[in-house]
Amino acid sequence: MLVLSSPSGAGKTTISRAMLERDSNLTMSVSATTRPKRSSEVDGKDYIFVDEEKFKSMIDGGELLEHANVFGNFYGTPKKPVEEALMAGRDILFDIDWQGTQIIAGDEIAGKNLVSIFILPPNTAELENRLRTRAQDTEEVVQQRMSKAADEMSRYDGYDYVIINDKIELSVEQVQTILAAERLRIGRQIGLHDFVQELMGRE
Ligand code: 5GP
Repeated sequence: MLVLSSPSGAGKTTISRAMLERDSNLTMSVSATTRPKRSSEVDGKDYIFVDEEKFKSMIDGGELLEHANVFGNFYGTPKKPVEEALMAGRDILFDIDWQGTQIIAGDEIAGKNLVSIFILPPNTAELENRLRTRAQDTEEVVQQRMSKAADEMSRYDGYDYVIINDKIELSVEQVQTILAAERLRIGRQIGLHDFVQELMGRE
């Protein structure tokens, strides 16, 4: 379970897309949210857009792996697709905030499968620029997100890795490197014990 978190506008969505294109063993976790859909977004692909009543019923039904209130809207990770992907031996990519990351990290089983990366913008001006050029949010929303960015960025030290996203291509390569190394961890290589036994000439 590979988590990418960052303040809005640090480039996390671009990095996630590039990772999905380059790594066929990676599946994106599609979150449920009560926030209004942006014009460029597709329901069921970018998010599962639901009303608060539906969201609460998902919580009550134990359907969410984690959920949090971000900027006044609810966001949560549906549990079933994650379990299915992991059972099929696939890795799964999450674009969730620090609150959700903490919840997963604290889970006895899920926490062991978690690798978390925090993406930082190279500087404040670039962060604001990226939020503005996205141009899909109202000025009020942009201001709200800028003021929240400082608080979000202060959460970097709860993560396994930090990437400063100056050049997107380099950042994508860095995420690929982290993923490659984490896949090689002894605990994550399925069948390793049997393989070594065979190499040693034992059944
Ligand atoms: P946006 O509204 O810009 O798509 O996302 C706002 C924030 O919500 C981002 O920081 C994103 O990572 C976070 N987020 C999206 N989905 C989830 C989720 O399922 N759980 C949690 N905890 N945060 C989420």
